[in-house]
Amino acid sequence: MRKKHKTEVMELEIELRRREREARESAEDLRVTRGDLDRERSTTEHLRSTLHTQAQTQLTLTAENAALKAQLSNLQRELEKRDEEVREMKLEVEEKEKRVVQMKKEVFESETIRRKLHNMVLELKGNIRVFCRVRPVLPSDLPSTASIEEMEGEEELETMKEEMKANMAFPDKRDHKEIVLYSSSESAMGIERKEVYSFGFDRVFEPTSTQSEVFEEISQLAQSCIDGYNVCIFAYGQTGSGKSFTMEGGNTDSTAGMIPRAVEQVFRVAEEMKSKGWEYKIEGQFLEIYNETIHDLLSTSTSAEPSKKHEIKHDPKTSRTTVTDLTVVPLTSPSQVKLLLAQAQKRRSVAATLMNERSSRSHSVFTLRISGVMVGTGSSSSPTEGSEVIAGTGETCEGCLNLVDLAGSERLNVSFGPGVTEKERVKETQSINKSLSALGDVIAALVDLFVAKFVEWELEDADGTQPFTASCTLE
Ligand code: ADP
Ligand code: MG
Repeated sequence: MRKKHKTEVMELEIELRRREREARESAEDLRVTRGDLDRERSTTEHLRSTLHTQAQTQLTLTAENAALKAQLSNLQRELEKRDEEVREMKLEVEEKEKRVVQMKKEVFESETIRRKLHNMVLELKGNIRVFCRVRPVLPSDLPSTASIEEMEGEEELETMKEEMKANMAFPDKRDHKEIVLYSSSESAMGIERKEVYSFGFDRVFEPTSTQSEVFEEISQLAQSCIDGYNVCIFAYGQTGSGKSFTMEGGNTDSTAGMIPRAVEQVFRVAEEMKSKGWEYKIEGQFLEIYNETIHDLLSTSTSAEPSKKHEIKHDPKTSRTTVTDLTVVPLTSPSQVKLLLAQAQKRRSVAATLMNERSSRSHSVFTLRISGVMVGTGSSSSPTEGSEVIAGTGETCEGCLNLVDLAGSERLNVSFGPGVTEKERVKETQSINKSLSALGDVIAALVDLFVAKFVEWELEDADGTQPFTASCTLE
């Protein structure tokens, strides 16, 4: 019995141990499984949060997508609208281009009419016009510098200036065409004799006239040479009467004379004519006639005396008068012309022992030669212009502008300069008188030819110091 019990106890013990082991193993399993479970849980948690984020992101993306789609359709609508606008604009441009071509044609046609009318206006004004300019009284005209210094103030100086010019009047305040000179002389009997000389001109410029006022009267002549006419402007008068001042002028813009102003005008008009299909070439020459010899003022040779003999040639076929072997300079800008004039001045002073003396005893002729071709538009100057270009007619024109500063018109007995012998001065004066009287003959012949007006050369005899500028268009 006991043995049986013992065996049973042992068996139970074994069973207990087995159970205990199993329990341990189960506990171990449980622990491992719990660990696994925890891990799985955290993974699940992580996945859940990721999923949440992804869902959020997806929501945003969907919203964004919708916005973009809306934007796209907006843009498409906009694009269509723009396309429509472009189509309309293209039509408009085409129409405008047609209009431009039409207008250009009209401009060309009216240009021809304008030229005719412009020339007609100038012919009506007179092919030969004579202006008279009276220069202001200069300090050097007053009796002596010493007495000026003695004077109390400016007022007295002004009165004196007024007195000096009191022997003339300008009665024609409307058209400025008249000048009246008064002189009084005593007869042998001691009786004062008053004389009045009245002269009529196409225009009289009073001492207060400015260079720009004088140029206004001749500015249309620049258009004439561009149109292919020959224009000549002479300045005539005694030495010191303001010929060179009128023609060349001072250094400032306001005192610039007729030559720089005419040059500027010619360049400006030539530039404007480009849009009307004309292209111009402008060349210049400058000569001086002293003692019947022609000097090339633009020559680059350094010797004072002329190395070449220049002759005047007239071609009756083309009616062109040229001087042989003269330096002809292509001109591209007014500033270049300024330089050229300065160079010519220098040359004149090199040639002269006394520049003022010499310049007043010689004639100087500045010539601008202008040749133009009607090349139309769409030429080299505007190659990118619309496909419809207006063909040039190939018409050409050649004009020439002569600006002449004549030698002093005074008589032989006027002051001899130092270094000039009486014989030389007599020869000079004879040359001047000969050429001036020849010029008088030419102008008189032209006057006859145009049955125009009487040229008032008498002024020279009237004891006045007034120069006058004669201008004429010669065809
Ligand atoms: P010309 O060439 O006839 O001998 P100038 O042109 O040399 O005479 O003129 C003589 C002087 O008178 C110069 O000093 C010039 O500056 C001055 N002069 C001439 N005309 C005027 C004018 N309209 N206004 C001011 N000064 C003048
Ligand atoms: Mg002069």
